[in-house]
Amino acid sequence: MRPLIKTEDLEVTYNLGKSNEFLALRDVNIEIYKGEYIVLFGTSGSGKSTLMNCILGSLPNSAGRILVKDRDIYNVSPEETVRYQRSTVGIMFQTFNLIPSVSVLDNVSLPQLFSGVSPAKREAKAQELLDRFGVGHVSHKLPTNLSGGQQQRVSVARSLVNDPEILLADEPVGNLDSRSASQVMNTVGEINIRDGVTVILVTHDAKHLPYAHRVYYLEDGRIVREVPNPEKKQIKKTKDASIVTEIERLARLFPYVSVEDLRVKSLVNYVTQNANFDQVTVLENALYRYIHGSLSNEDLKEIISARISEGGVGMDKRQATEMIKKISSIIENSNDVTRFRRGVLKTPLHYQHKFVQRIRGHLLELYNGELPEGLLKELDGLIISRLNGVIRRDAFEEALSRSPSKKGIGINKKTAFAMTEYFEKMITQGAAFEKVSH
Ligand code: ADP
Ligand code: MG
Repeated sequence: MRPLIKTEDLEVTYNLGKSNEFLALRDVNIEIYKGEYIVLFGTSGSGKSTLMNCILGSLPNSAGRILVKDRDIYNVSPEETVRYQRSTVGIMFQTFNLIPSVSVLDNVSLPQLFSGVSPAKREAKAQELLDRFGVGHVSHKLPTNLSGGQQQRVSVARSLVNDPEILLADEPVGNLDSRSASQVMNTVGEINIRDGVTVILVTHDAKHLPYAHRVYYLEDGRIVREVPNPEKKQIKKTKDASIVTEIERLARLFPYVSVEDLRVKSLVNYVTQNANFDQVTVLENALYRYIHGSLSNEDLKEIISARISEGGVGMDKRQATEMIKKISSIIENSNDVTRFRRGVLKTPLHYQHKFVQRIRGHLLELYNGELPEGLLKELDGLIISRLNGVIRRDAFEEALSRSPSKKGIGINKKTAFAMTEYFEKMITQGAAFEKVSH
């Protein structure tokens, strides 16, 4: 299956060659498949509208390519661009963009002007769409006499009148009260599911994430991660569709935070059992600085063992030492996960194998005993499968404790749990600078 939309190292620069030149998008590589509902998510200024306008064909890229149905949309005749904008894509804006001086019905039927359809048919189709979206009874009015929610439903009708394959919606409910907003959001969702239109929604509101098959997160003009919605059956085939890591789960719980902050949360969760909210907050801040190298082991120990009233975490020295040992071992050992992952694409697997053996060694530090050579090989196989996302966490844990006569490793349940937990933490820390899923 080929993607409907694909960008290759896409870059968009505003004011190219001028003193105020601004690189608004860089290294953007996305693939969108027919029938998907995609959310472009990010804070204000992250480049969402820029990417949307580029897909719309109205903002040429400065490097890379953008292909729609395998055609470079900025490398075609002007007629073809017009045809693309008129019939392949439909667009909705936050500000509705209706023509104030003509009726609602005309607003919706006008885009068909060049389609060769008779006026009567055009109006009939416009009326039908307005009826469908619950604004048929105001079709003779001027847009300004309608509520915001009604105006946006008119603009939904207008965007669909030429039967587009792709609906682009840039913060379509940003100006609406919450009731109208959810009506419009449901309408857009229905257009995706019932009409099979591919939807690309730009939003900074985490409430809208559940509508999507996949979410692309933007930060400073880059795609920083891509998260499939586990609640939805995926259309895009991913190489290791079964990978469900802790970081993906955290990403759904905390959609606004960066991958680095998720790493911190994962560590805090590992080393705190009964800490209260204040202690957790202090610890998160301290670990953030520790990970970034601005806090030494000693400084960290001091913060962890200082009294809560003095801005510390309030643990005793022995607990603090234990905690730091755990954290630094995870961070240190996760380097082997990172190295394994980096090398996988470039190096033959047998060279990579030394990292697998090292990871195995880290896990076996939690195991009091010796495993025979044959079981060590089995364990390596499990480690590789988990790293590649071929098996999930629970399958890994189950195989560790299953008996060797049933192709398991035969480790007791408690140790199997501890080893799995430790491994998952290593995987999360090792995921720091890569895309969260793929
Ligand atoms: P978003 O939609 O995520 O809020 P935009 O795509 O609108 O972000 O903008 C991304 C960045 O590009 C911002 O820093 C913005 O100031 C800049 N930008 C947007 N439009 C222009 C323009 N026409 N000229 C120069 N810079 C622009
Ligand atoms: Mg915007």
